Amino acid sequence: MPTITGVRCRPFPHPLKQQLLVDVETDDGLIGTGEAWWGIASGPNGDPSAPFAPMVAAIDSLLAPRVVGRDATAIERTWQDLADWAYRYGDGGIITSALAGIDIALWDLAGKRLGVPVAELLGGACHDSLPAYASLPPLRDADLLARACETGRAYGFRAFKLHEIDIELVRHARRCVGPNASLMVDVNGHFDAVEAVQFGRAMADLDVLWYEEPVRPMRHHGLISRVAGQQPIPLAGGENEYTLDEFQRLLATGAIRWLQPEVTKIGGLTPARKVAALAETAGVALAPHNFRIGPSLYASVHWGFASPGTQWLELPWIAGGEPFPCGATLPPVVDGRVALPGGVGLGLR
Ligand SMILES: [Mg+2]
Repeated sequence: MPTITGVRCRPFPHPLKQQLLVDVETDDGLIGTGEAWWGIASGPNGDPSAPFAPMVAAIDSLLAPRVVGRDATAIERTWQDLADWAYRYGDGGIITSALAGIDIALWDLAGKRLGVPVAELLGGACHDSLPAYASLPPLRDADLLARACETGRAYGFRAFKLHEIDIELVRHARRCVGPNASLMVDVNGHFDAVEAVQFGRAMADLDVLWYEEPVRPMRHHGLISRVAGQQPIPLAGGENEYTLDEFQRLLATGAIRWLQPEVTKIGGLTPARKVAALAETAGVALAPHNFRIGPSLYASVHWGFASPGTQWLELPWIAGGEPFPCGATLPPVVDGRVALPGGVGLGLR
């Protein structure tokens, strides 16, 4: 039995692209690497370590002491024990975000030990390749938007997701990408329900594939349902839900067409398999959320490939795809699609 001998946080402070990697080591000398949720960017004037400090504290003081000494192959059991114990600190948010770092590392470790990719551990790939979209940051500028679309197209993307709240910028982006590219619009819950309906109706002639998190509060399922019923663009959402129960309730509304769980918020790949099954039973497509190039993205890719209902993968497209602080690289995109990464475990490169 490979025994866990250490859990180590590897923080990468950055004003905008901070990351928190988590290494789990076993007594046979293997190391698996996961990634916890990165927190909300501090911006240029904030402490670049502050966004992930709560997750570091949860891992170091609460979770790691309960993980060391365990059987590294008992991933589900470890997840259940940690979640059952730590729910008193919250069954979502900081705790599941921290737990994700350890859980993803354990899956990476299992793949490395067995010499197989994580997707194989999850049941094997259901797809030869998957469509991926370039997820642009909020740019708020027509020239920057045009440049990001141009560089994304050159990289191989054929689909682009905007984080813009100005209808003229959405119109501009549709012109930039041309009529054949897919265009998604994510407003991160910027609008109240009336504004969200107005914005959706204003996009009616722009061939927008999905309208993501249109309304604030972003987890108000009643308002999401209202917006779904009163404007023409199909909705996507779910990146701010944490528990199986929350996903089940969101899916029961019938208001969303694409479910976007964030593997680092829900607690890693162990619950991700179950969320995918919930989406499958609800007839809702899976489109894993991600906005970091690191173990979390690679975990999402393996999970996406192993889930039959996956329709899209999100790849961050910031400053022309430049590497994130941990140094991992963006998977190649060929004619709008990505392949399963090679190698064992997560195959992080
Ligand atoms: Mg989003």
